[in-house]
Amino acid sequence: MSEYDFVVRGARLIDGTGAPAVLGDLAVRGDRIAAVGEIGSGAGGRVIDADGLALAPGFIDAHCHDDRALLDTPLLEPKISQGVTTVINGNCGVSIAPLLSGRPAARAPLGAFAAGSPRYERFSDYFAALDANPAAVNSACFCGHSNLRHAVMDAVDRPATADEIRRMTAILGQALRDGALGLSTGLYYPAASSAPTDEVIALARTMSRHGALYATHMRDEEDHVTESLEETFRIGREAGVPVIVSHHKCMSRANHGRSKITLPMIERAAREQPVALDAYPYRASSTVLFPDRVAKCDRVVITWSETMPQAAGRDLADIAAELGCSDVEAARRLQPAGAIYFQMSEDDVRRILAFPDTMIGSDGIVFEPHPHPRAWGTFPRVLGHYVREVGLFSLEEAVRKMTSLTARRFGLSGRGALAPGCYADLVLFDPARIIDVADFADPCRPSEGIEQVFVNGVPVWSRGAATGQRSGRCLRRSVASRGV
Ligand SMILES: [Zn+2]
Repeated sequence: MSEYDFVVRGARLIDGTGAPAVLGDLAVRGDRIAAVGEIGSGAGGRVIDADGLALAPGFIDAHCHDDRALLDTPLLEPKISQGVTTVINGNCGVSIAPLLSGRPAARAPLGAFAAGSPRYERFSDYFAALDANPAAVNSACFCGHSNLRHAVMDAVDRPATADEIRRMTAILGQALRDGALGLSTGLYYPAASSAPTDEVIALARTMSRHGALYATHMRDEEDHVTESLEETFRIGREAGVPVIVSHHKCMSRANHGRSKITLPMIERAAREQPVALDAYPYRASSTVLFPDRVAKCDRVVITWSETMPQAAGRDLADIAAELGCSDVEAARRLQPAGAIYFQMSEDDVRRILAFPDTMIGSDGIVFEPHPHPRAWGTFPRVLGHYVREVGLFSLEEAVRKMTSLTARRFGLSGRGALAPGCYADLVLFDPARIIDVADFADPCRPSEGIEQVFVNGVPVWSRGAATGQRSGRCLRRSVASRGV
């Protein structure tokens, strides 16, 4: 009988804390890391010769919309091919649960979850489905504010009444008892933009009793980004909950450079209350297609369109030229649709990524026909482009932003570090070769340089392909594991 199931030998161990890499071995027994350091050859177990490759904790994708993809495409190749071993779902105010039956059609972006089947009335049903049909990655999930509004309001273009808030609070409380991470909002989106700050505070108060978190796609990431940050901090303060600013950015030319203001604001607020943030490494964003937004962009690429499916992957300007109309009119004719917006400055992207508290989150939409390449490329792009090619920060710092920082913020105990007793979520990669390959023209391509990925001690990705193993777990929030 050998002491270990396998031993990775001669790796550059990057432990996730930001500490300098050290050459060493790592042993796994069952689903846990059993030993780290110099491991004698008598211990037994299968040997994986790392030969100078880097071994890091599996990456935690801080911002995802993989709620249904976990069930529909459980190998989740866009993510495991990047070294991602845990995804945080239910963001931007939309989640796969709760979706009550007999409700009117949901507006985008909730419609994408509401239209699919099966529907989950409760988080416990969704989590049970994941337990029964596990994915290749671990996952945790927020409860969407737009789900709550959709559940109790027939028209969402107004503030909720006191009675509606009471009913939403009850549904949210159930979601939290079932193990949802907290509440997410998408106050930018039409389905939630008429919710006043007080409505969100009232709901968020429920969470302080449960030790849950508040994550937000803020009301405004353009001209009013600083007011939106103030609103977010106020919600956190008055409700007594940690806040997470999702995919932080400063959009539109007039706001380029404003991260010089927003990041110090976040830094100051974080001295007084728990504040976290995430970002993705691209200067283009992606969401549903809003005609009134296209004039503010350098370029718009269509990701999907129900009326013109053949438009997916094409520039809006080219489609408009073909149709003989303006970009705005073309955007109207494509509805309902999704788009990629080139609307940020590279300087802001770099400044936000380099901010010490910024976690890496892809915000990828893996089920779209022509997604933003962040769905496949985010983590290797940070490690290959921003670390190796640009020198924005060290490899160890990049890994910290993808592992221990994220695990702590979301209260994922036993994950995000290379230490005995931690879960064996691991990624073995080549720091000299790792790079994203997915681009805006061809976005569904696995990255290079990811050698092997393990989830709970089981190999899920090996030398360019999924192994077919699905060892991911559904991570339910527990009060003991409060994050941020
Ligand atoms: Zn969002």
